[in-house]
Amino acid sequence: MRMVLIGPPGSGKGTQSKLLTQEFGVPHISSGDLLREAVEKGTELGKKAKGFMDSGALVPDELVLGLIAQRIGRSDCQRGFLLDGFPRNVAQGKALEAMLAESGCPLDHVVALEVPRAAIIERLSGRRLCPGCGRLYHVKFDPPAGEGKCDDCGKALLVRDDDREETVAKRLDVYEQQTAQLLDFYRNEGLLRLVVGSGTPQEVADRIRAAVATAND
Ligand code: AMP
Repeated sequence: MRMVLIGPPGSGKGTQSKLLTQEFGVPHISSGDLLREAVEKGTELGKKAKGFMDSGALVPDELVLGLIAQRIGRSDCQRGFLLDGFPRNVAQGKALEAMLAESGCPLDHVVALEVPRAAIIERLSGRRLCPGCGRLYHVKFDPPAGEGKCDDCGKALLVRDDDREETVAKRLDVYEQQTAQLLDFYRNEGLLRLVVGSGTPQEVADRIRAAVATAND
């Protein structure tokens, strides 16, 4: 199963990807995670990407495309993959199509999560990250037992640089401007399934499963 999950930042793509990849037995490929890894490792690509990421802008396509081509070329992707956060614009969508055409394995599904802007700002600006173990919390929906400290490793929780409120607003603007055209692109290809992204993770996963099953009919 080769699937793309599209949605604004904070729409629950990461959570859904984890649920769905376990179920479908394919790797979860997050372009944001690949880029953050490159930044942490201090690679040349990471150094070039960091400024764009911290300001909420998209990283230039040529940096992202190489990372994705390399990742989906690995052997664990032979049975498929779930892409999260890539493609983000039409140019990336076309580049992905070309990469997959080479291997004769086109996309099966494109699912787009829809969540209202106010709900996203509340979700993201309340998100806290443990720098020690990577666990995510939310000040309102999933707070730690001790204020500001990770329940698992006791480290002080941080706000991810790009989860600050002004950056969240910028990331949403970027999403609305660039990704809306990507949705049209996939709509024209007959691949797009729109799914309501509010509710519990399980409710959203059920809707995605139903949307994918209908597409297979
Ligand atoms: P995410 O974790 O998917 O929200 O991505 C975090 C940041 O990484 C984004 O705000 C962008 O700066 C960058 N990024 C992730 N995926 C892409 C992509 N497909 N194209 C360009 N930039 C990206």
